[in-house]
Amino acid sequence: MVEDTGKGGSKRDPRDVMTAVPGGRREAAAGVAGLACDLDDGGPFDGLREECGVFAIHGARGEIVAPAVHLALYALQHRGQESAGIATSDGTTVMIHKGMGLVAQVFDRGQVGGLRGHLGIGHVRYSTMGSASLNNAQPIFVRSPWGDLALAHNGNLTNAPALRAELEAKGVQFTSTTDSEVIAHLMATAPAAAPEDAAAYAMARIEGAYTVVVLVGGMLLGFRDAYAIRPLMLGRSGERYALASETCAFDHIGAVFVRDVDAGEVLAIDAGGLRSLQAIPRQRLAHCVFEYIYFARPDTQLRARNVHSARKRMGRILAREHPVDADVVIPVPDSGMSAALGYAEAAAIPYEMGLIKNRYIGRTFIQPDQATRDFGVQVKLNPVREVIEGKRVILVDDSIVRGTTSGKIVRLLRRTGAREVHMRISSPPIRFPCFYGIDTSSRGELVASAQTVEQIREMIGADSLGYLSQDALAEALDLPRRELCMACLDGHYPTTVPTEAQAGRFALEHVLR
Ligand code: SF4
Repeated sequence: MVEDTGKGGSKRDPRDVMTAVPGGRREAAAGVAGLACDLDDGGPFDGLREECGVFAIHGARGEIVAPAVHLALYALQHRGQESAGIATSDGTTVMIHKGMGLVAQVFDRGQVGGLRGHLGIGHVRYSTMGSASLNNAQPIFVRSPWGDLALAHNGNLTNAPALRAELEAKGVQFTSTTDSEVIAHLMATAPAAAPEDAAAYAMARIEGAYTVVVLVGGMLLGFRDAYAIRPLMLGRSGERYALASETCAFDHIGAVFVRDVDAGEVLAIDAGGLRSLQAIPRQRLAHCVFEYIYFARPDTQLRARNVHSARKRMGRILAREHPVDADVVIPVPDSGMSAALGYAEAAAIPYEMGLIKNRYIGRTFIQPDQATRDFGVQVKLNPVREVIEGKRVILVDDSIVRGTTSGKIVRLLRRTGAREVHMRISSPPIRFPCFYGIDTSSRGELVASAQTVEQIREMIGADSLGYLSQDALAEALDLPRRELCMACLDGHYPTTVPTEAQAGRFALEHVLR
């Protein structure tokens, strides 16, 4: 059965529906196809893509928390622009609304207002396993012995295909091709007396990177893998507890950061308060360094370090490691801005906005034909001639993945009259694929996996090219290397990983009928 959820006779997109299903759950699915903005990722256009963002809140009895979840998802929007969703519950009935697109496209006031209850979880998605489709939007819903269970996940499981096959052999039916649904069904079929024990059971079976929030049986759960690869923090506002991928989400709802969820820990929040369970043994910490370099928002705190300040320190050390005589430092916006500020301060060279980013280009932007292809980048990044012409430019970005966009930007600066272009990168070369939720699962996609720095410099056409060293990165973060995941830089994976052929985004896609 499909019903329009419009309030007060408001006209609604016919693709936007709410479905009533047996058991009292109501699920909404908004279809807003292909409108997510490529440039809102803040990164290079051929660059790394964020993985996902999760949020959860336990409000006071009788409180409606959907507006707080909605606000928090805006704060996490940079972590995923393909789909968004919210699930809420009053302790018995779970309601879900999710759809394709940005938070602003998936939700309007009526849809947020239609979600009742004092418990809520939310998700923004960029697909790293499973295609970008409505079936794969989150929160995921399954039935469990404790009632409706809604789950949202950030990260990638490295053993999802085997677990899914095992569950299907037991008769479990999947409705998506995500690894996240594997976690939900493991919990729902766990030999466990309570939801937190079910979470512990699932954690003992799954491998890889995960931060998960769950709404089940009048309770919120939050848990994190044994290496704490992806971030998950606990916040508090009065009697309300919240969990979020980044602290900037707490800022939006007036909550304050309390602490990180620990590696291998389950937090359970219900009417009785907050409980902690060390569900699986904690391994050596392996926080993803790219959260600091690129993924997290500059106003977020990770391990009590402000991300913008950490990026500035990377830029300062980059200036020490790769100095060059120049007239101006300009960032690739927005990803290179903090590091460029640090570089400019340390080198005592003026910082300028030499490239202006158009924030309103969507995925529907059609690349020009071959003859005018270089101008395609100019639609997204327009140079400021007064800043660039006749100058020796230091161009700062946070990473080079394939190298194609860096080359286009260097050519753009030269066309605008730059005398010299010196490229500086505030991360070490990315040489190995990530199996933990970042969309670079093939070495063939990574220019630094097969080419030297000099070959890359030649390819992008820069006068010089300098990357931050691995030791300098740890120095900038003021964290021991043994507590960081740098696997895509040094090839030392904290867990066993699948082969590249097994690990792609579509590893579970063959099961989609
Ligand atoms: S491999 Fe790289 S991107 Fe992936 S989790 Fe480790 S540091 Fe982060």
